[in-house]
Amino acid sequence: MKVLVINCGSSSLKYQLFDMTDESVLAKGLVERIGIEGARIKHTKTGTDTVIQNREIPNHKVAFKVVVEALLDENHGVLKSLDELAAVGHRVVHAGERYAGSVIITPDVIDALEECVPLAPLHNPPNLMGIYAVTEALPNIPQVGVFDTAFHQTMPGYAYMYGVPYHYYEKYKVRRYGFHGTSHFYVSRRAAELVGKPIESLNIITCHMGNGSSITAVEGGKSIDTSMGFSPLPGVIMGTRSGDVDPLLISYLSDQEAIDNKAMSHVLNKESGLLGISGVSSDLRDVEEAADSGNRRAKLAEDMLYYGVKKYIGSYAVAMGGVDILVFTAGIGENSARAREGICKGLECMGVKLDPEKNKVRGKEAVISADDSEVTVMVIPTDEELVIARDTKKLAIDR
Ligand code: ADP
Repeated sequence: MKVLVINCGSSSLKYQLFDMTDESVLAKGLVERIGIEGARIKHTKTGTDTVIQNREIPNHKVAFKVVVEALLDENHGVLKSLDELAAVGHRVVHAGERYAGSVIITPDVIDALEECVPLAPLHNPPNLMGIYAVTEALPNIPQVGVFDTAFHQTMPGYAYMYGVPYHYYEKYKVRRYGFHGTSHFYVSRRAAELVGKPIESLNIITCHMGNGSSITAVEGGKSIDTSMGFSPLPGVIMGTRSGDVDPLLISYLSDQEAIDNKAMSHVLNKESGLLGISGVSSDLRDVEEAADSGNRRAKLAEDMLYYGVKKYIGSYAVAMGGVDILVFTAGIGENSARAREGICKGLECMGVKLDPEKNKVRGKEAVISADDSEVTVMVIPTDEELVIARDTKKLAIDR
């Protein structure tokens, strides 16, 4: 019972092939530079070395063909025939208000996702290209869509509405949607499992901190608020994204710099955050190193990140009337003990007590709070692909 999970970006296609009898990963890989010179596939059959092949890959359709060839290859493949493949699951960023969970992809679902393109102009088109590529190559295989926005559909109106005239919500669907939902869902469930308590009885704050970062309040298993919004720009400062700014800055800076909306959006998405403040890098490792060698702007960027996350944790603890578990995940959350320490410092007032020794952990599941900490602080590596594979099995195979 094999399930292929696909995550298409504008010039990339990531994949993982699962054997769902034991949830093991048989192979995974990445097609990169699709439509650009120097395209290639990096394919790894579990337990063997990565194979890299340079190919001409003009579009996602060809990229998927190249993936199929790799999966069927005599030497580094893992399938004898495509008949072994039971279903394909896709990561799709935006499903608007249409879907609060994963769904089997039908022509109606595709129409709904096309309708969401204006809400996620950078993400939904490549996600849809992946769906079209699979549909064309394997027309009879069931496909499932798993949406980044779905988990946050449980937010109450007072958390997701913006204080702009209501008719803009009705006309343009402007509201907070939130992202990284599959990751927040996974790590909150896993945290409950690890402490051995039902998710319904727990208040959990999940900090997904990578190139993009978002913080979510998970009350009784449901997302009740999250730091990203209508787009993945707001919240805490990120690698190159500004996070929250006074909205009037945007028109003010556009006027001062004589730049249009598109250029302003580029500034906020690509030139801001850790990179924009430090002037060094969007990668927290570089920023930490620069701060250590006396770069004041790098230190400022680091402090802004910790302070921003701390403020969200405080406000979400209050929103839920207390917090039982604080989870760190994704590139920064899983790997940077320094970031976790910086964020937790000062949270003693709400019962968070980090154990500096236990915090010296990277990329694996661990409790990092002291035994007498009221809040359990954990590191949990995220696994969005596994959630997609499980949902795909549930909807396409077990039905
Ligand atoms: P994405 O959001 O693109 O999926 P990741 O979750 O892979 O990103 O996170 C990437 C980020 O994680 C890097 O930009 C880097 O800042 C951070 N990171 C990874 N390892 C470390 C580390 N050891 N210390 C500090 N930051 C790290």
